[in-house]
Amino acid sequence: MQKIIKKTIENNMESYKKLVKTLYENPELGNQEFKSQKLLTDYLKSAGFEVQSGVAVPTDFVAKYSSKKEGPKIAFMCEYDALPVVGHGCGHNLIAGMSVAACEGLKSVIDEVGGEVYVFGTPAEENFGGKVSMSKAGLFNNIDAALMLHPSTQNGLGSDSNALYPLKFEFFGKTAHSCNAYLGASALDAAVMTYQGINMLRQFAKPKQRVFIHGVIKNGGEAANVIPDYSSMEYYFRAKTISYAMELAKKATTIAEGACLATGTTLKTSVYECPYEDTVLNYKLGEILKEKFIEEGLNDIKPIETDSGGSTDVGAVSYICPTIQGYIKIADSEVAGHSVEMADATVSEVGNKALYLGAVVLAKVGLSLIKDEKLLDEVKKEQKERLAAIGQLAT
Ligand SMILES: [Zn+2]
Ligand SMILES: [Zn+2]
Repeated sequence: MQKIIKKTIENNMESYKKLVKTLYENPELGNQEFKSQKLLTDYLKSAGFEVQSGVAVPTDFVAKYSSKKEGPKIAFMCEYDALPVVGHGCGHNLIAGMSVAACEGLKSVIDEVGGEVYVFGTPAEENFGGKVSMSKAGLFNNIDAALMLHPSTQNGLGSDSNALYPLKFEFFGKTAHSCNAYLGASALDAAVMTYQGINMLRQFAKPKQRVFIHGVIKNGGEAANVIPDYSSMEYYFRAKTISYAMELAKKATTIAEGACLATGTTLKTSVYECPYEDTVLNYKLGEILKEKFIEEGLNDIKPIETDSGGSTDVGAVSYICPTIQGYIKIADSEVAGHSVEMADATVSEVGNKALYLGAVVLAKVGLSLIKDEKLLDEVKKEQKERLAAIGQLAT
């Protein structure tokens, strides 16, 4: 059966490479990925999947193939949003290729083994959290496991992630000639006081909550001789749990309110991007992934990391079904994430090799979960235990 999967992926490699390259050459930002969505769904339709587009958000899709036999439902997550300046510098074009290929590979044996396979087109990972919207819409509710690999500088079994709460502060003051500043109220002063207050807040964050707070002043006034009547700041509050990230954001809001009181300005806050939950890890899925990596000759595999500072919308899915986002090496360690070099690596020879091997590995993980009921039970049991430990077990 594994041979059939490999053969299927091998036979279609030129198409997968073309998908990855076309996405690379036509990068689209989050929530604007209409061409990418069409490219991928056209392919999946031609490969015999039943496809629905724009299910929870306009640029998402769900592609499904059901066998006639009952069995587990395995999903491969597919990202395709790019970044400003560096295009596919996070390599989401390659994620798309690997997941489409893995799903088509597994589909080739699904009539025999039973079950259902899905490609979830999950847009806007970088900022607007397609997976969050799709999770909220219940699209992952019946899925037994959600799988993906992210390009990286090392092979790995994945990592936890920080919850992220994005908050925007807007300050409204009053203009005046700067030589008669007493007639005005400086929104910039309020922003600067808030910025400094938040800097002081960091010291009082709980140590085990792995807190990162970073922000920028977006508007600081127009002219030195005019007291600024508008200023805004955008912040990310990251912590191990979304509730603590929100608690920090609340404290920061109190600081901003104090700054307003001091400067005679007023405040408006808004959540300007999508909040992300942390990621629920699944070590059993990690073990299976490791086994498949090794079978395909991919070595030097980093174990699951638990000290990540970054955030991802994969977290939302991980609260609903067992989820894994492993890493596959496509570049050397000096290549930075979110860089032009990383984008180029997705269409390099090494990138093409990773496209094939990543797809095979993912498809094999899916096959094991479908064929080995006990294994899937273990994966699900761990998921339940971890959710219970977090105190978020669904009723
Ligand atoms: Zn990414
Ligand atoms: Zn990224």
